[in-house]
Amino acid sequence: MEFKDGKELLELCEKNNKKIYEICIERECFKSNLNKDEVIKKMQVSFNIMKESVEAGLNNDKKSLGGLIGGEGKKILNRSKETKSVCGQLMSKAIASAMGVMEINATMGLVVAAPTAGSCGILPASLMTIKEEFDFSDEDIINALFTASAIGLIVTKNATVAGAEGGCQAETGTASAMSSAAIVELMGGSPKQALDAAAITFKNIMGLVCDPIAGLVEAPCQKRNAIGVSNALISAEMVLAGVNSIIPFDEVVEAMYKVGRGLPYELRETALGGVACTKTGCKITKSIFS
Ligand code: SF4
Repeated sequence: MEFKDGKELLELCEKNNKKIYEICIERECFKSNLNKDEVIKKMQVSFNIMKESVEAGLNNDKKSLGGLIGGEGKKILNRSKETKSVCGQLMSKAIASAMGVMEINATMGLVVAAPTAGSCGILPASLMTIKEEFDFSDEDIINALFTASAIGLIVTKNATVAGAEGGCQAETGTASAMSSAAIVELMGGSPKQALDAAAITFKNIMGLVCDPIAGLVEAPCQKRNAIGVSNALISAEMVLAGVNSIIPFDEVVEAMYKVGRGLPYELRETALGGVACTKTGCKITKSIFS
C-alpha cells in the first residue's frame, strides 16, 4: 500500500475501490506493524490535541512570548457573534480558530504540527469548523486526518514542507492543501477531487515567501494561517461544485518546489527580507532582542 505521489495514490484508490483515508490507514498499519484500531487510536490523540488547541485558542487573551500576537482569534469570534460578519459565520469561525491555535503555539501550548508549528492552525481550524457546521462525528474527522496525511506525505516525499527550504507556500501551503483535500473527501468528493483541491490550494498561494518578524513564528505567520484556512475552504468549495484543477497535483507540487528553491535565502525564514526587513519589522526586532 505504498505510494510515492498523487498518481500512484489515485491508482491504488481506483484499483481497490477505496477512499484516500482507507489507503492511508492500511499503509500506516503496514508501516507501523499496528492493527487498524491501534492506528486509529494514535490519530485520536492528535485529534484531541487539535480540538483542545482550537478551544483554548478561541478563549485566549495571553500575549505570545515575543509579544506580537495574542487575543486575535477571540476578537474575531466575538465580532462575528455580535454583528454581521463580512465573511459569514463559517469563515469567521475558521479564521478565528486558525489564529487562535497559532496563539497557543506562540505561548508554548500544545499543538499538532501538521505539517509544521508555523502552520499548525490551518488543519484543526478547517476540520473543527466543518465538523461543527455539518455535525460530523469524531470518527469522520479522524478519517479526514488520514486523508490530510496523504497530502502531507506526498509533499514531504517530492518537495518540502519547510519555510526555510521552500518559503511559506511550502509550509502554510501544505497545511492548506492537506485541509482542502480532507474537506473534499469528508464532504463526499472522490480521491481525484481531493487531489484537485490540494492542487488548486497550492496554486492559490504559489510564491509566498517566508519572512517572520524577528525570526519568531508569530507575525505574519498567524495571519497567513487565517488566509490558509480560507484558501482550503475556497478550494474545497470550487472542487465540490465540479471545478477541476487544470494542472495535475503532482505537477503543481513539483512547480511549488522549484519556485521555493528559486527564492533567495533572504525570503526563506532568515528574517532578512520581506516584512521582517521593513522599517517597522527591524524596529520590532531590535526592541525584542535588546
Ligand atoms: S512566514 Fe515562515 S515561519 Fe511564518 S508561517 Fe510562513 S513559513 Fe512559517
